[in-house]
Amino acid sequence: MALPLSCSKRVKEVLSEQHLDIMATKILAPVKTERQILENSMLEDDPNANCAVTQEEKTRPRWGPQHKGAQELANLYSKGKRTQECICVGICLTLMVVNFFFIIFHVRMDNLSTILVAAFCGIVTADFGSGLVHWAADTWGSVELPILGKNFLRPFREHHIDPTSITRHDFIETNGDNFMVTIPFLARMVWDFLTLPADGVERKFTWNCYVFLLAIFVAMTNQIHKWSHTYFGLPAWVVWLQEHHVILPRRHHRIHHVAPHETYFCITTGWLNWPLEKLRFWSILELLIEHTTGYKPRADDMKWAQKGT
Ligand SMILES: [Zn+2]
Ligand SMILES: [Zn+2]
Repeated sequence: MALPLSCSKRVKEVLSEQHLDIMATKILAPVKTERQILENSMLEDDPNANCAVTQEEKTRPRWGPQHKGAQELANLYSKGKRTQECICVGICLTLMVVNFFFIIFHVRMDNLSTILVAAFCGIVTADFGSGLVHWAADTWGSVELPILGKNFLRPFREHHIDPTSITRHDFIETNGDNFMVTIPFLARMVWDFLTLPADGVERKFTWNCYVFLLAIFVAMTNQIHKWSHTYFGLPAWVVWLQEHHVILPRRHHRIHHVAPHETYFCITTGWLNWPLEKLRFWSILELLIEHTTGYKPRADDMKWAQKGT
């Protein structure tokens, strides 16, 4: 029997309301529940494990400095690597100071709004870049790879099984690699300021402001990441920036540390984590790579996690 027109219209309305409700619930659902966070990540703000769920977790924690894999990885940090980091931090800081003075010298107040937009885009790009590099290093490759493995993938593996080790690393070990990445771009900027004629400098000025803020946030990413793991003794201004989500907040980054570490890879501001998760950006990328290469995502990460205590 056919429904009267007004009735079928109402049924359609109710169905579409329900559909919208389901969509809204899906979109607004937490990426990881409180329980998942509690059961599958290290209790970093609770060093005495008072909140540990199981007895095993209280006596034999799955994460931390006593993890055999973490100890093995920590021992692979070499003198040569340390030297590379010291050199990179020195060169990068020098280039930053030089570029800063060039920017102050050439800045014009009537361009301020364009410069601010460029700076904002630089920060967003840095967040995306941090996610892409972090995802690639966490998900693919192995510590056994020549040069790349021991020097650049090792810290990512160590960080998952001993997340608080980063809080015991000094400035050089924390920031050396990120500072290194920015050197070619900052060097190019200095070269431009020194060699371009005045109108050339002016034409590239907004672009250079974008690159400068991008470089600063890329360089600062692991320091910001370290702060997101530091639950005690942070300066008040850092906590303020975290609480207002200007930089990566601590509760926000806990979502990445829920095993098997498959989401929330952005670690500069973390602004892009939620939209990328809702777009299933990382899982689609992984499916495509697994389909074309046959490699399983996070196989090496899993191997190190299983070395246990
Ligand atoms: Zn990670
Ligand atoms: Zn982390």
